[in-house]
Amino acid sequence: AAPSAVKRQRPNILVTGTPGTGKTTLSELVALALGYEHINVSELVKAHSLHDGYDEAFDTFILNDDKLCDELEEQLGAATGGYVVDFHTCDVFPERWFDLVVVLRTDNTVLYDRLTERGYSDKKRSENVECEIMQVVLEEARESYQEEIVVELQSDTVEQMESNTERIQEWAKAWLANNA
Ligand code: ADP
Ligand code: MN
Repeated sequence: AAPSAVKRQRPNILVTGTPGTGKTTLSELVALALGYEHINVSELVKAHSLHDGYDEAFDTFILNDDKLCDELEEQLGAATGGYVVDFHTCDVFPERWFDLVVVLRTDNTVLYDRLTERGYSDKKRSENVECEIMQVVLEEARESYQEEIVVELQSDTVEQMESNTERIQEWAKAWLANNA
């Protein structure tokens, strides 16, 4: 059974996926369309130092899960809801925070080009393309949340970005109708 959460007035949505799949872009569109608040967790981790330093070998911040969850509890644990949370990993959060978990997927060559454009090192780019091929984030989502709330969406084209936004909007509408 799903872990008990407070009864929310609006749903909380998690948008996850390999870096470059389009989480931030989609989250901004969804937040704008629904009038929800977008939380870019990577930015938050940097801005509030919710990490234990920088890992040079992996070219990334070492996330402090406890600090991160303490920081977000007031917002995501509240009854108001209405948050769109954007992060490349999803197993650090309490399950009860989310009503929908969107996993964005991108074709390998499309992702490779996006990460090149972003100026990623060869090593970091290969690691992330491999992570996408191995469906690491999708597996993580399926292990961390109820199957029914995990949705996989393709994010290769602008048309898909638009249809994904509409789909999440429709989902939120249905959630509100069912949870009023
Ligand atoms: P993430 O937050 O997952 O790292 P971004 O939202 O920053 O990804 O998107 C990475 C790049 O890919 C940006 O330049 C963005 O404009 C582009 N992009 C994202 N989603 C799509 C899509 N569905 N189709 C085409 N380009 C996209
Ligand atoms: Mn992003």
